Formats: sequence, structure tokens, C-alpha cells
Amino acid sequence: HDTLLEVKNLKKYFQMEKGVMLKAVDDVSFAIKKGETFGIVGESGCGKSTAGRTIIGLYDQTDGEVLYDGKNVHEMNDKERFSFHRKMQMIFQDPYASLNPRSTVQEIISEPMEVQGLYKDKKERQERIYQLLEDVGLNRDHANRYPHEFSGGQRQRIGIARALSLDPEFIIADEPISALDVSVQAQVVNLLKGLQKKKGLTYLFIAHDLSMVKHISDRIGVMYLGHLIELTQSKKLYHKPLHPYTQALLSAIPIPDPDVEDTRERIILEGELPSPMNPPSGCVFRTRCPHAMEVCAAEKPEWQEIEDQHYVACHLYDPTKTGDHDWSQVAA
Ligand code: SF4
Ligand code: MG
Repeated sequence: HDTLLEVKNLKKYFQMEKGVMLKAVDDVSFAIKKGETFGIVGESGCGKSTAGRTIIGLYDQTDGEVLYDGKNVHEMNDKERFSFHRKMQMIFQDPYASLNPRSTVQEIISEPMEVQGLYKDKKERQERIYQLLEDVGLNRDHANRYPHEFSGGQRQRIGIARALSLDPEFIIADEPISALDVSVQAQVVNLLKGLQKKKGLTYLFIAHDLSMVKHISDRIGVMYLGHLIELTQSKKLYHKPLHPYTQALLSAIPIPDPDVEDTRERIILEGELPSPMNPPSGCVFRTRCPHAMEVCAAEKPEWQEIEDQHYVACHLYDPTKTGDHDWSQVAA
């Protein structure tokens, strides 16, 4: 079967002071197919990074399961975990913070190989490093330089080379382009796309807005306050967003073609993002939702498949919950 990663009812809670619980990831489920790019989108603090870190095993989950190739990631023995570490790698938002400033590019890239005991032959490892530098659009002259000698985009390329050094199958990219100049963002996205094709990689691509992620992702899940609220193919999500939050996110993206008049109505969300330590009852989005109904405060909307492969958690799409709500208000 073609599922590579399965996330089932994943919860990651953090115990804060005074017995307060921060529910960073609350009952999130999705599956990623081999060779696919799956995007997770949401505002900062929605739990998307925590989800990524829990999936790769940097955090223990509070509840739920993460299955990689059918194996429970959090129940692996040492040997299984060791080989799993080779298969799944992470690229971080701030390439500068994630690269040791005192190490040369060569040392940075070879470190994971050392840990895993790969390419022990010196010459072989050297060739491997040169090849990786080439793969990410750098060259062998860069090998003995230090991170501060590079631009933001180049540093992200170094981070990508390091992630590739173990020949992974799956890469979690946590906002890999957010810290970069707009002019450089497309280059890094194109690099990631090219590498995916060449090496058959599967991506989980985490982003805070939809503008770039819709170009790279096959499917996208939208998160809000620890919850997954909508999931479908990128095209569908872009053309027919169902959840009021997704509709608002999309209305904030400018239409790229200057010859097309942007007649869409911008949906401005009222109010602040609530604290994940004190989320609203019922639907977590209800304090900012332009369509909120009485039922939204009382009941948590269920995750349902509205159309083929299009999932949403919103009472508007449950006829038994909407009562006499005016459906014509719902833009779609
Ligand atoms: Fe808005 Fe209610 Fe749907 Fe939540 S369940 S998004 S509050 S309409
Ligand atoms: Mg983050």
C-alpha cells in the first residue's frame, strides 16, 4: 500500500505551571502517501511545528499514534529507532540557528553520517559531501567555509544538504522559507521540488500561509489552535475552501496576475487568536468565525468527509446542526 506516514488521533499536551495544560496538538489525524508533499498550514501557535516535532520523535506524544511504514514510531526498539532516524529528517525554519557556527560546511554535512557510521572511508565521505553540495546548488569550494560566510538562502541549502546526507525517504520541512527574502523563497522551493523528483522524497511541508505552500503541496491540512480543521487536495482547497477559517486565509492572498482584477472580498477575522491554554468550548474557531451559530459554542464539530477526499470540521456542513442558518452567507 502507498501510505508512508499515518498520524492517528495525535495529541501533544504540555503541562504548564499551576496545573494548566497547553493542548498544542489536539486529536489530529492524517496520512501521507509515498512521494507526496503534504502541507500543514496555520498561524503561529496553531501547533503545526509541535506536530512535526512529535511525528519525528523529538517530543513524546501525549496520546495517539504515529505509524511510519506501518511501524509505531514511539514504540520502536533502539535498533529500529536508529534506522528510522536515517529515513526521516527535518529542515528547520532558521537555517542559521540550526547550523553550528564553529563548524565548517563539510563538518556540518558529515556529522549525521558519522553518527550513523556511514561512508567511513575518508575519500568516499569526501566525495559524498561534494556530491551533496552539488545536489543543493553549492559546490566543493564551499566545503571548508563557515555558515556566517553564506547568505540566508545558501544556509538553507546547507541545511538541506545535511538533511539529505543520510539518504532519507521522508523530510519534514518546518517553514523552510519563512525566514528568507521573497526573491530567494521560490529558488529554495524549486530546489526542494527538484530533489523530490530526483530522489523520490516524501515531504511534510509546514507553513504559516498558503501562498507558497499551495504550489508545492499535493494536499494540504489547515490547523487552528491545535486542531486540524480542513484537509483536501491543494487545488480543491484553493478553489473551494469549505471552512470559514480557510476561506479567510485564502482571501488574504493577493491574486498574482496583475491583469486580473481582484474582486474577491477580503475576510478580516475579528478578535485575537485565543490562548491554547484556554481554548473556546465547542468549535475552537467560534470566537472569530463570521458564521458562528449557537451550536458552535455547545458542540465540537466532527471531522467529516464532505466530498470525495475533502474533510472539514464545521457545523455548517452538518444539516442536522445548522437549523435555519442562512447558507447563502457561506462563500464558496
Ligand atoms: Fe464557524 Fe461554527 Fe463552523 Fe466553527 S463550527 S467554523 S464556529 S460555523
Ligand atoms: Mg513554528
